[in-house]
This record gives sequence, structure tokens and C-alpha cells, in this order.
Amino acid sequence: MVSHQNGFVLREPGEKSRDVIQRDIKTLSPSYTRSYGFAVDHGQGAEVWDVDGNRYIDFAAGIAVLSTGYSHPRVVKAITDQAQKYLHIGGTDFFCPKPVELAERLQQIVPIHHTAPEDKLVYFANSGTESIEAALKLARYQEGRSHVIAFYGGFHGRTMGSLSLTASKYKQREGYPYIPGGVTHIPYPSRAECDDCGEGSDCSDQSWCDAVAFIEKFVLKMVSPSEIAAVVVEPIQGEGGYLVPRDDFFPKLREFCDKHGILLVVDEIQSGVGRSGKFTALEHWGVAADIVCLAKGLGSGMPIGAVVASNKVMGQWVPGAHASTFGGNPVSCAAALATLDVFEEEGLLAHVTELGDYTLDRLTRFKADHPILKRIDGKGFMIGLDFVDANGEPAPKLRDAVVNQCYLDGLLTLGCGANGIRFAPPLVLTRELLDEGLMILERAIAHIEEEMWETT
Ligand SMILES: *Cc1c(COP(=O)(O)O)cnc(C)c1O
Repeated sequence: MVSHQNGFVLREPGEKSRDVIQRDIKTLSPSYTRSYGFAVDHGQGAEVWDVDGNRYIDFAAGIAVLSTGYSHPRVVKAITDQAQKYLHIGGTDFFCPKPVELAERLQQIVPIHHTAPEDKLVYFANSGTESIEAALKLARYQEGRSHVIAFYGGFHGRTMGSLSLTASKYKQREGYPYIPGGVTHIPYPSRAECDDCGEGSDCSDQSWCDAVAFIEKFVLKMVSPSEIAAVVVEPIQGEGGYLVPRDDFFPKLREFCDKHGILLVVDEIQSGVGRSGKFTALEHWGVAADIVCLAKGLGSGMPIGAVVASNKVMGQWVPGAHASTFGGNPVSCAAALATLDVFEEEGLLAHVTELGDYTLDRLTRFKADHPILKRIDGKGFMIGLDFVDANGEPAPKLRDAVVNQCYLDGLLTLGCGANGIRFAPPLVLTRELLDEGLMILERAIAHIEEEMWETT
């Protein structure tokens, strides 16, 4: 018998969790999207405990945020040291060394198209959506260009501007009108979907899996390229399902943007800060963007977003053109600087690449005997698993059942896309915990699959 509280499955013992859930439902906005009854107490590395003392391995990292784990000593020390000096000054109106230091680091690390480190500029925000808002305003700052191209399945945030680009679930958009100025959504060239179609280079209509061909064939019938400010895209779609694009996508898109003077804006909010095994995921395809947006993993859990662009692009802004009271908060910047230190000292990029390849390989072999799994794809610690029913149709309910089963067995996971689970653990996850977590995941999948066969 599985316990429930307010409709959420609940792992026993769960008395204290019940209390938190009951009070939460009475006090917090109903717009949140919780799927099971986990109520956090404390964590360390990639392990976390609920308020009733149950232990979990974490494959979700607080939605791909906890890059260095729940409370990395180095990050905690940096936060504490800064907090003891001062908490806030307002980088909009005063000079402050911490954001400068962080910007200098990002100048070195974040690639920008045809731009040397010292010719890059950085804007600091407090979240992902704010980074996208800043990038949108920056791209539309150009004379006469206001149109933006984005992708179906894309997720760029929930404030009014970024929401106009988001096309991942209608629930996120329902009731909110688009920003004026125009956004056109086009199909995201997911390589898994393309492989599925199976026509390869014989494909009769390349425009559906070749985004540039699609833009040229359809979008440019409505909008002149000279009116297009930017193409905004996730290098690997996150919320939309952990989808990796075809290998020819970004080189072609880069060429198209260059040809028409359109800015290529990459939303690295989920894929960036090492999650894919490179610091920014776009590096996998050997091209660079004009504007890069970061957030989630940058501060290891402290709220911070960053927009990096060339001086040529961001240098156009005049004082007052954009700003934020909390942006570049010194405590968040200290956390981000310590996060970057941990990357170097612990060789996190190599670690993520090695364990990511191992995981992809292991899950792909597991999939061969488990038809409930339709697709395993990803890079580094950004791997998606899609679930289908006995007829091979997308099965969100079976996905939810696997997510719940994992939780009951001590593994935190999160869904993505219509029928996917994301593998997005803290980047510091050890090989031992990875194996333990994968065992729980594989057992849960096998269990739900068995139930599926029994009921069909
Ligand atoms: C999470 C996310 C956002 C929004 O970030 P918030 O901090 O929730 O505003 C934007 N883009 C992508 C790709 C994301 O994963």
C-alpha cells in the first residue's frame, strides 16, 4: 500500500513531510508543479535527506542547479565570508569588486563569436528568465530589428518577454498574450526525431529537420531578414525533453545569422555551466553565439544569471538602458566564483564527460531489453529517457509512475518533455552514487514495465 498526502505519493515514514505538504497547500501558490511528496531537510554532495530522515540520491539537482552539490564546503565558505563583510550594495549604482571578478572569469570561459576575452561584456541578473529578458532587450536594441525566431519545445522562462519565446507546454502560456513585435516559432531539429523518420538524406522535405531551410522556405515569406533581431535557441532543449539537435544545425544556423546580421542568442541556462561536459554546450558544435545566457548552475544554488556578449553588441547600451537592483549581488557572485574554482580544482568537465558517457552507454544497453524506453539521448549529465506504452505511443503516465517509484525507492528524478525523465544530477556525483542511483532507476523502470504488460 503506497501512502499519499494531498494527492502526492509519500514515502514512509512521512509524518513530518505530511505536515509540510498540508501547510504548503494552504499557503503557497497553486501554480507550482510538484509531482511527489519529497520535503527537503538537508543535503551533501549528491545525497539529500527529507524531513523524516529518509535518504535519497539526487538525479535532479534542484532542476539542474546544484552544480557543485547541496552544500560544497568551498562554496559555503565563499558565501559565509562575503556575508560577513556585507550582503548587498546595488551594482546598478555603486562599484563593487565581486561582480567585476566574476565578469573577468566569464570573459575567459564563455566563447563569443569572433570576440577576444577582453572584448566581451557581462550583464548580471538574478534568474534564468531575467537573463533572457536582458538578452531580448539587447537584441531588440538594434535599430529596426524587433522580430525574434524561437523553437517549438523551447523553454526560456515565465516572465512576459521570455514567455513569448517559450513553447514547451501550453499550460505555461495559457491566458498570457505574446509581446508585441513578433516571435515566430519553428521546429527544433532533434536528432532523435530525425533518426526515427529514417529517411536520412533521402528525406523528401528537409525543411522540417533543417531549421535554416525552414526559415528560408516559410519564415522569410512573412518577415524580411533585415527585421529579425535574433534567433533564440537552447543548444540542448531542457524542459522540452532533453533533446540534442542534429550535428549540422548550429553550423548552418551560424552561417545564416552571419549572412543576415541576425544575432544568435543561446539559452545555456540549463545546458551551460558544465552540465553537458563542456562549459557551454554550444562548444560541442564548434561555433559560438553572439549572446550567451547563463543561470541555473552558475551560483551552485544561489540566485544569479549572466548575459555575455561582445562589446560591439552590449557596448551599445547607454546608462539606464537596462539594470537590476539585485543583479550581481556580491554573495551570489562569491558563490559563482567558488563554483568556478571547484570546476578547475576537481576537474568537473572531464568527470562529467566520463561519467556521462558511461551512463549513456549503460542506459542504452538497458533500453535494448526494455521496450517501455523509446529514446535515450544526451550529453554529459544532461540525458533524457522517453517512455512509450505497449503500442509504442508516448506514455506520460508510465513516466510519472517511474518517477514516483524512484522517489519511493530513494532516488529523486524530474520529468521533462511530454513523456521523458531527465538525468540531471549534481556535477560532483561520484561513480558509487551514480551506480547506486542507476540501479534504483533501472529497477523502477523494469517494475513499471512489468505492471504495464500485466494490464495490457
Ligand atoms: C530554467 C530555465 C529558464 C528559466 O530560468 P528561471 O531561473 O526559472 O527563470 C530559461 N531557460 C532554460 C533553458 C531553462 O532551463
